[in-house]
Amino acid sequence: MCDSSISFTCGECTTLNCSKQNSEYPEDCLTLALDNEELQKIIRIYKEDPIDASYSLAAAELVKSGYGTLSRVEEVAAFAKNLGAKKIGIASCVGLVKETHQFIRYLKSEGLDSYCVLCKVGAVDKGEIGLPERVRRKEGAHESICNPVLQAFILEKEKTDLNVIVGLCVGHDSLFIKHSAAPVTYLIVKDRVHKHNPVAGLPVEG
Ligand code: SF4
Repeated sequence: MCDSSISFTCGECTTLNCSKQNSEYPEDCLTLALDNEELQKIIRIYKEDPIDASYSLAAAELVKSGYGTLSRVEEVAAFAKNLGAKKIGIASCVGLVKETHQFIRYLKSEGLDSYCVLCKVGAVDKGEIGLPERVRRKEGAHESICNPVLQAFILEKEKTDLNVIVGLCVGHDSLFIKHSAAPVTYLIVKDRVHKHNPVAGLPVEG
């Protein structure tokens, strides 16, 4: 539901002055409205938390070296190398197992180890976690849940350094990200209608 008390956000901004400081800040700009102490607290997180510092440096190196020239597949491998990641966790949808096999082979060719867990791991029936019969796709048949919590649990036990989502469903990805011990990035964002390119589903501007 729309909250009418929210009047202006970055979503309505046309100057984007926070990006390059080559324009004007709008009157209700979120940067102008910041409390300096809060901003300094955030800046300290990047500098003082070792994980956040290493991820922000690895991401900055990637932007500097590969922006617009590397594919997403190459970027994930380059980011992992920048991080010095020893083991890449892969949380994959069972429907994208072919692509996951290709990704594993690619990581190996780049000298990176991986550990893959598919979404149906555990073979837990929908009824076992209390889901109602109406969400079963075929009446009376066993239907394994997508189990992102178990995927995250196994990858934590394997002590992966970076976890990569390969096409988990909307919502299952939220649960995986919530429970993942290692930071998470995406290889494939599932969109079966648009060949996994969600941008193609945005309404065309009139
Ligand atoms: S922070 Fe300010 S300048 Fe930047 S996008 Fe938001 S409103 Fe625009």
